[in-house]
Amino acid sequence: MIKQSTLKKSIQCKGIGLHSGKIITLTLRPAPENTGIIYRRIDLVPPVELASHIDMIKNTNFCTSLENKNGIKISTIEHLSAALSGLWIDNIVVELTGSEIPIMDGSAWPFVNLILRAGVKKLAYEKKFIHIKQLVRVEKEDKWIEAVPHDNFTLDVTIDFDHPVIASTLQSYFFSFSIENFIKNISRARTFGFLKDIDILRSQKLALGCNYNCAIVIGKNSILNPNGLRFSNEFVRHKILDAIGDFFIPGHNFIGAFKSFKPGHTMHYLLLKKILKNKNTWELKKFKKTNSKMYINNDIIMDN
Ligand SMILES: [Zn+2]
Repeated sequence: MIKQSTLKKSIQCKGIGLHSGKIITLTLRPAPENTGIIYRRIDLVPPVELASHIDMIKNTNFCTSLENKNGIKISTIEHLSAALSGLWIDNIVVELTGSEIPIMDGSAWPFVNLILRAGVKKLAYEKKFIHIKQLVRVEKEDKWIEAVPHDNFTLDVTIDFDHPVIASTLQSYFFSFSIENFIKNISRARTFGFLKDIDILRSQKLALGCNYNCAIVIGKNSILNPNGLRFSNEFVRHKILDAIGDFFIPGHNFIGAFKSFKPGHTMHYLLLKKILKNKNTWELKKFKKTNSKMYINNDIIMDN
């Protein structure tokens, strides 16, 4: 059976909070089997822990945030969550000196690097996946998202921006999970924003840490970052990265085929909520390595 993982050792980085603009230290610490994903605010006395759980999601505007019943928040968790999901880290403590995960370069790549530098350690306990057993679908205005049973984790995503810069790129992408495929094709895709929106966000005290180093900034007819895009279709790839991060909030990797049109954090949350509230639609399941296509090329980090 596939086993749970954690880190071999603790590792740290510093970065700016996209919305707060503050410098935050992030420390990733190994944790024992069945701990799950725990976020810990060490800027508070005493420190406060928030478990990554669907019931803790309180805000899906612009980013995914967790909040406890006393109003203690951790914002912008989706890109770190994507790195944890993509590298199959089941148990970890994420310590923060502020209320936000640093935005870094706007992708999951800096977190992937940190985890690979710390090393991945296999634990004795078996890993449990959320296995989709029947179709679940959510529609809202012209947007929709659905999950159906499958033998791997796949995402088939279409975005539909009529802005000339994004419309000139391929707006659909199909991703079939393997750790290697995640690292190579998804983890480096950056978040993006429109220059015209940044002033509006700033007036709401959001995006205070935004600059060309932490997002793709789109002007009227062009990309304003001096180095351009990392992939010709980086926008839709980043939407897949966001989905991988949001779908890992329950702390288990999914086995199922997901398809969406014009998705975002709110649509991801609505689908997750609908799946998890109906026990007929899913089960927690262990998988044998030999039974699962997702192990193809995963040995690069899993077999050590
Ligand atoms: Zn994102």
